[in-house]
Amino acid sequence: MKYYPEIKIDIEKVAEFLELPPSRIADLIEKRNLQQNWDEYDNIYRFEGHAPHLEDGTVLIDNHGSFELVRGFPKIKRAMLLEPALKNRFSELESVAVEEKMNGYNVRVVDYKGKLIAFTRSGHVCPYSTERVQNFLKRDFFKDNTDIVVYGEMVGPENPYVQKYVYDIESLDFFVFDMRYKNTGEALSVSRRRELVKEYGFNQTKLFGEFGISEATEKITQIIKELGKKGHEGVIIKDPEMVLQPIKYTCSESNCSDLHHAFKFYNETGRDYLFSRVVREGFQSYEWAESEDDFQKRCLRLGESILRPMKETIAQVQTGERISDDFHIRVRDKKVIYKFKSYLERLGLDVIFGLPEKKGNEYVISVRKINKSTNDKTLAILEGQLWS
Ligand code: ATP
Ligand code: MG
Repeated sequence: MKYYPEIKIDIEKVAEFLELPPSRIADLIEKRNLQQNWDEYDNIYRFEGHAPHLEDGTVLIDNHGSFELVRGFPKIKRAMLLEPALKNRFSELESVAVEEKMNGYNVRVVDYKGKLIAFTRSGHVCPYSTERVQNFLKRDFFKDNTDIVVYGEMVGPENPYVQKYVYDIESLDFFVFDMRYKNTGEALSVSRRRELVKEYGFNQTKLFGEFGISEATEKITQIIKELGKKGHEGVIIKDPEMVLQPIKYTCSESNCSDLHHAFKFYNETGRDYLFSRVVREGFQSYEWAESEDDFQKRCLRLGESILRPMKETIAQVQTGERISDDFHIRVRDKKVIYKFKSYLERLGLDVIFGLPEKKGNEYVISVRKINKSTNDKTLAILEGQLWS
């Protein structure tokens, strides 16, 4: 069950700030496209679904009647075929900047009442990310740049969203990949952002270089092949000035690793998620004009990433065990554990938290996310139910 608090906001003032008619704001509230956060964040609102001119997950902060917008991170479209996509999007540029696309979860950070807070993609204040981000960023940056929002990827195994071991990170780390001005969402250029990140000593996603348009396809293909071998995800190709929208391009291995995870929970994963990953393999294989040997390897990789996890799931349910996503989180303040559990439950997740185990000055907690739909479906089929 989702929890919908009643919204207390001055509709007239919000309308004036967003330059929209008040009736439009009332309509957004009515349709639950404008939602209020809870507890100590109840003067923070988020836009869900379709809001005018605003990215999904855009956040509105109400500082006693004066407002601030933290724009949602814009959707990055994907190149299916690298060469035509680069020509199509970036033909007017001399070169493109190529950064590593790290595989974790997207977090936005701002300073709020003297403390850093972290928003997830949807614009919720995530208690876990908020606690963790204090370890990775320092407030001096935000004091010196009050009008800038920092966007980055939370990466590593100890998180509830995307657990990855391929980066040699034991728990969790944060890599900045974007900075944008509040309200307008205008992005800093790649070089300015990278300079600032360096100046303040934060981590950032790797820059492979700036490549001339004519050489970019070949360079990126090489980079992707190397990243694939390491199990890394791929690249984001950016206009160095950040005026044109970036595009993403990823490795087959990472694609298959997504499928492997998704097919373990085959009945909860959206079909588009699965299908689009299969289609990517077709286009990449075509563009790379692979040898028969490499093509066979791709077929095997793709097929295994689909069938193996499903077969394991069926066998596991058959033994009476429930299918779950198991991971750990790590906190300094014990109170965050309970806050975070209640946060996940409000989002409708079925989670079981283990007892906190003291590790140094922190606590490690095991978490099981129960995947009821896959469980039930598999059990039913094992008991003879037909696929209608
Ligand atoms: P969308 O396609 O809507 O952006 P998604 O959840 O489908 O979202 P991904 O396929 O993971 O996203 O690709 C975009 C995401 O990549 C960004 O939202 C960001 O979290 C992540 N990312 C990782 N590294 C970078 C980087 N160097 N530059 C920009 N984004 C990056
Ligand atoms: Mg991602």
